[in-house]
Amino acid sequence: MNLTDFGLAAARLALGRREFSARDLTLAHLAAIEALNRRLNAFITVTAEQALAQAAAADAALAKGEGGPLAGIPLAIKDIFCTAGIRTTAASRILGPFVPPYESAVTANLRRDGAVFLGKTNLDEFAMGSSTTSSAFGSTENPWKRRQDPEIRLVPGGSSGGSAAAVAAHLALGATGTDTGGSIRQPASFCGIAGIKPTYGRCSRFGVVAFASSLDHPGPFGRSVEDCAILLRSMAGHDPRDSTSVDVPVPDYPAACARGIRGLRVGVPREYRVEGMAGEIEEMWQSGLGWLREAGATIVDVSLPHTKYGLPTYYIVAPAEASSNLARYDGVRYGLRVPGEDLIDLYERTRGEGFGAEVKRRILMGTYVLSAGYYDAYYLKAQKVRALILKDFTDAFAEVDALLAPTAPSAAFAEGEKTEDPVTMYLNDVFTVPADLAGVPAISVPAGLDADGLPLGLQVIGPPFGEEVVFTVAAALERAAGFAALPAIRAGSPRT
Ligand code: GLN
Repeated sequence: MNLTDFGLAAARLALGRREFSARDLTLAHLAAIEALNRRLNAFITVTAEQALAQAAAADAALAKGEGGPLAGIPLAIKDIFCTAGIRTTAASRILGPFVPPYESAVTANLRRDGAVFLGKTNLDEFAMGSSTTSSAFGSTENPWKRRQDPEIRLVPGGSSGGSAAAVAAHLALGATGTDTGGSIRQPASFCGIAGIKPTYGRCSRFGVVAFASSLDHPGPFGRSVEDCAILLRSMAGHDPRDSTSVDVPVPDYPAACARGIRGLRVGVPREYRVEGMAGEIEEMWQSGLGWLREAGATIVDVSLPHTKYGLPTYYIVAPAEASSNLARYDGVRYGLRVPGEDLIDLYERTRGEGFGAEVKRRILMGTYVLSAGYYDAYYLKAQKVRALILKDFTDAFAEVDALLAPTAPSAAFAEGEKTEDPVTMYLNDVFTVPADLAGVPAISVPAGLDADGLPLGLQVIGPPFGEEVVFTVAAALERAAGFAALPAIRAGSPRT
C-alpha cells in the first residue's frame, strides 16, 4: 500500500504503532506533490525543509511514546493563514514578498499538536470567489474529471480550492480552509471530501488575513468526517487575541462521530428547494433524508423564511467589510510598493497593480454601500436582514437538532464557465451563505456521484456550538452513503 493511501485517522494509528515513520509519510506526500502539483497547482509554496524538520521532531516524540494528537500528520495550509517565516500571499500580488513574523492561532495549535506542514495552498485572491480561478498564482485544477469529457479542466470550487484539491488528490492528509460564504463546504463538495465550518468564534481568526471579519470562519478539510473532527479538535479553542473568540470548552469531536442518531430530529428547510437546482441534487438530498430516517432519525419539514435574502445580504455585508479590511494595503507598511510621484500616486499605483479584478469589484461594491447616503439603504438594511436570518435558524433549532440540505446547486463546473458573469458565480453560494451570516456550524459530506461521475455533497447544519451533533449526523450520513470513489488525478493512481 502506498503511504499516501492512508486516511488521517488510520495514519495516526499506524504512526503510533511505528509501522512507518513520520519522515517516510512526509516524504511520500512531498513526492506526490512533486509529481502532481505542476498539473493541479494546488500549492503556491511547498515547504519541504520545514516539513522534514517537523517530521523528525514528531518521530523523536513518537519514539518516546509521546507526541501530540497530530504527531507526524502531513497537512496543507491555505495560504491565508500567516505562518512565521514562510511567505503568505492570500493569492494576491499586493502582499508581494510578505513573510509574516508571527504564526496564526490555528496553525500554532496544529503545530502544538505535532502536525507537519507541507506547504501553503492556492485560493481565490483574498478568498473572494467560488472557483480558485482569481488567484494571482494561476488557477487550481479539480482532480476529478467528467467521465465523458476527461479533457475539460474543472474548477475545485473556492475559495479554498487548493486545500480541497490537495486533500482529494492525496497530496495531504488534511488541510485548513476559511469559510466566509461557503469557501470550505463548496470546494469540499466539488472535490468529494469533507469540510466543516465551525461556529463563529470557535476557531480564532488571529493571523488569518481578513476578508470579512464578521463572517470569516477557519475550519478543516479531511477525507472523512472523523478526520475533520480530529483536526477541528486541535484547531479550535479560545484565544484572547481574537475578541470574537468564545471561551467555551472544546468537546471530544471524534467521539461524537461514533454516536447513533436514533431519536434525533432532522429538519428539511423548504426554502432550499430553489429553481434551477439540478434534478440529481434534489434526488441526492432525498436519498440523504432516507438514509437518516433508516438510521433512526425523525425527518421534519422546517421553514427558514428569509433564505432568499441570504445572497443579497451577504453580497452587501461581505464587500463592505472587505473594503474596510483591504484599506491597509497601501504600499507603505508591507507587501508590494509601486513608486509614484507623490503619496496618493503611490497608493493608487500600488493598489491598481496589486489587486485583481474581483477584489477591485468587491472594494467598489463595499465602498458604495458604506458611503454617505447609501449606508442606511444598503448596509444598515442588510444588517437588519442578517438578524432575521439568524432568527430563522434560532426558530428552526427550537424544533430540530440539525438541518440537512445540499451544499451547492451544481457539481464542479468547467474553468471559464461562470467566470465571465460575476452574478452567476455568486449564485453558487445560495446554500452556504446563510450559515455564515448566522454563524452556525455546517459540514459538507460527499454523498454520491452525478451522471458525469462528479461528486455531490450534502450539508448538515447545526445550532451554535452544536458541532457535536453536526459530526454525529454527518458520520451517519457518511456511513450510509458509503462514498468510496476516487478522483482521476491522485497520488499513486496508475492514470497519473
Ligand atoms: N464565494 C463566496 C465569495 O465569493 C464565499 C467566499 C468565501 O467563503 N471565502 O465571497
